[in-house]
Amino acid sequence: MTTFLDRLFDAGLLFETGVDGLYGRSGAFEDVIAAFERLIDRTGGTDGAEAIRFPPGMNRAFFEKSGYMKSFPQLAGTVHSFCGNELDHISLLKCMDAEEDWTKEQKATDIVLTPAACYPLYPTIAKRGPLPATGALFDLQSYCFRHEPSTDPARQQLFRMREYVCMGTESHVTDFRQLWMDRGTAMMQAVGLPVEIDVANDPFFGRAGKMLANNQRDQNLKFELLIPITSTEKPTACMSFNYHQDAFGTKWGLTLDNGAVAHTACVGFGLERIALALFHHHGLDVKTWPEAVRQTLWG
Ligand code: AMP
Ligand code: ZN
Repeated sequence: MTTFLDRLFDAGLLFETGVDGLYGRSGAFEDVIAAFERLIDRTGGTDGAEAIRFPPGMNRAFFEKSGYMKSFPQLAGTVHSFCGNELDHISLLKCMDAEEDWTKEQKATDIVLTPAACYPLYPTIAKRGPLPATGALFDLQSYCFRHEPSTDPARQQLFRMREYVCMGTESHVTDFRQLWMDRGTAMMQAVGLPVEIDVANDPFFGRAGKMLANNQRDQNLKFELLIPITSTEKPTACMSFNYHQDAFGTKWGLTLDNGAVAHTACVGFGLERIALALFHHHGLDVKTWPEAVRQTLWG
């Protein structure tokens, strides 16, 4: 049976690398992402968000402090390098020649791969000092890494997340999250995609993680916008809407200028997933997409 992934390779939209979840993208694929990002810009552009672009690696110390290894050790990716002398180099080459595991001698660098676009933001903003009482809004985009190899093209190991992050009072950031749930639904409808919004949880690791996941659901802290891509029974999360309460505010010392701890929320667009949803629903050739969809994306 030819899968959707095979069809994407055959159409030249994605390129195989030999690793599940790691793909090259064609110009046509990237053009869809660029067009959808312009739709995001038109939708959120007048909100006055400060745009920041971090590279796909972040400060390991910030990553450690974030608690990511407590919650999602299975997904994390670290950057290791050769840090030895000439003698170590000789043994490295010998080891590689013998086809033994040469990676054991690699040492951790100060960089880890970014797991979600907003992770580098909180410590960066905390360093500036208290936020205005009116709050703050940021516009981010980053390649993110998650170690979850899969042959589902919608589950990649390196993919892009566009995010808006809001910091302020509880009502400010929960209003922001609701606004983007409405906007996200309207945007997907404008590009001809069927959507459903549902409560969700993050994939917390282990038995203790089950409790954290249940707690997150019970408190409606995470919602996802779902679109069928590779399965109709289990539609794929193409956006997520996360309310962190004051967890990041407390962790990073984010305060408002009246001294209150900031609440935060973030809204993430899974850019590859949205492109894949468009290809799945409208066909692999953008020239044959419905005129109304083309009009929304390319004007
Ligand atoms: P999350 O932080 O898990 O809510 O992720 C934010 C958004 O990124 C999700 O709603 C997805 O659209 C997208 N996303 C998450 N994991 C992956 C993945 N493995 N491959 C592609 N997109 C992903
Ligand atoms: Zn986020």
